[in-house]
Amino acid sequence: MAKYIFITGGVVSSLGKGIAASSVGCLLESRGFKVSIQKLDPYINVDPGTMSPFQHGEVFVTEDGAETDLDLGHYERFTSQISSKGNNYTAGRIYLQVIEKERRGDYLGGTVQVVPHITNEIKEAIKEKAKDVDVSIIEIGGTVGDIESLPFLEAIRQLQLDEGQANTLFIHLTLVPYIRASHELKTKPTQHSVKELLSIGIQPDILLCRTEHPLPMDMKAKIALFCNVKEEAVITARDVEHVYEVPLYFADEGLDYIILKYLGLPLNERKLDKWENFVSKLKHPEDSVRIGIVGKYIKYEDSYKSLKEALVIGGVANNLMVELKWIEAEDIEKEGTSSQLSDVDGILVPGGFGERGIDGKVMAITYAREKKIPFFGICLGMQLATIEYARNVSGLSDAHSTEFEKETKNPIFYKLRDLLQDETYGGNMRLGAYECVLKEGSLAEKAYGMKRVFERHRHRYEFNPAYKDLLEQKGMAITGISPDNKFVEIVEIKDHPWFLGCQFHPEFKSKPLNPHPLFREFIKASYRNRMEKSNG
Ligand code: GLN
Repeated sequence: MAKYIFITGGVVSSLGKGIAASSVGCLLESRGFKVSIQKLDPYINVDPGTMSPFQHGEVFVTEDGAETDLDLGHYERFTSQISSKGNNYTAGRIYLQVIEKERRGDYLGGTVQVVPHITNEIKEAIKEKAKDVDVSIIEIGGTVGDIESLPFLEAIRQLQLDEGQANTLFIHLTLVPYIRASHELKTKPTQHSVKELLSIGIQPDILLCRTEHPLPMDMKAKIALFCNVKEEAVITARDVEHVYEVPLYFADEGLDYIILKYLGLPLNERKLDKWENFVSKLKHPEDSVRIGIVGKYIKYEDSYKSLKEALVIGGVANNLMVELKWIEAEDIEKEGTSSQLSDVDGILVPGGFGERGIDGKVMAITYAREKKIPFFGICLGMQLATIEYARNVSGLSDAHSTEFEKETKNPIFYKLRDLLQDETYGGNMRLGAYECVLKEGSLAEKAYGMKRVFERHRHRYEFNPAYKDLLEQKGMAITGISPDNKFVEIVEIKDHPWFLGCQFHPEFKSKPLNPHPLFREFIKASYRNRMEKSNG
């Protein structure tokens, strides 16, 4: 039977619950346990697929095509988990399931209520994910005290009763602010937030205290006394430079030892050497490389979370520190390419939706192609790279995607789903992992070192096969294609040091212990460019 660890957050949001949950998962795996990490989000959207990146940050896509919270990206990077739909539930999805059951008549004429119907549905979702693992970690989104989180907190309270105290553990992440004027750390917000939890029947077992300064012993003792936890269970969660240091920091604080002790699990030896090695390479790079990312939501870095991590990880794979230069595509439209791009070693145009900044992105691609700067186009970036090539090399000056110009005479990208005439927003995209066959001798095949790969998609528009021959004649190589030959997945330019666009999102699959080959090779090529520039 699985053990359950519930992680809640108090005082303020953005304390890093996702990283905390991931780090706990990482530590338990390092001790040989099979874990699963699940996120329960209290908002009413059925999934975050239709939310703006400004609101919610990146939408993380799973192998099975679920559009989920970006914390699932952390879970996958910190552990060996391959998430699926069941790893992320929102209140909206829970309510929808209950309402559908009610319409089907499943409740036999009864009154449908938050307790027990909603809470039962939540408990079922939690138990389902715990089926094949030793420990299931459940992160509750939001902050304790929010109206919306109540059904979730009530459900986990009940679960402790159902599963027994020995099999459940509550970890609460809280803030211990430092008041500069008086040089003091303050415990009151933590006390209040634990009180809030107690009022709904949850006594936390472990407190993770986010602080700028290490908590002295007397401070830990005070928190322990007021919050009714053991002193050893008051853990300092100090700010660290890199998120990947958090598991190591928690290990030093003895967090994994305490978790195993409280859950009555065997104290297997901890094997973290690979992780330590990654962190040490991350902290001691041999040199650096600068990558320009031309996007639309650059002021809000969370909207490109996995992309950023994939670049950092790709850097570590080359013993390099990656400096990210975030460039607003509209600034290129206003100020021209060279003012924005002359100081970068590689250029990346990431995925995106909507018209704003399209011209700036195309300008950046022309610049990368002509100046032979390594270029990586992802999803929208690949589409625009193909359109740029059609316009400026293949003589189709009006080439476009029907996403941006419905009536274009040369629709290089078009919406296959138009045929289905499905205009609902959620759920009409190509989502999740699809197989891709790589062409022998291509940049892609050399990077992956294999012929067939699975990569994750999230888009509506597809390459129009009517233009395949023309583009190939003009020197664009189609190097990745679906096994049925229907979908073009990767394009490259032959006469260029490194120019590759892929229709899928490789950033979702890059992990510290398993860096994605395309990012690794893009960074390598960008560094080569940097060295050549400085040598000549
Ligand atoms: N807007 C494009 C499409 O829907 C690209 C999507 C993306 O970059 N994820 O096809």
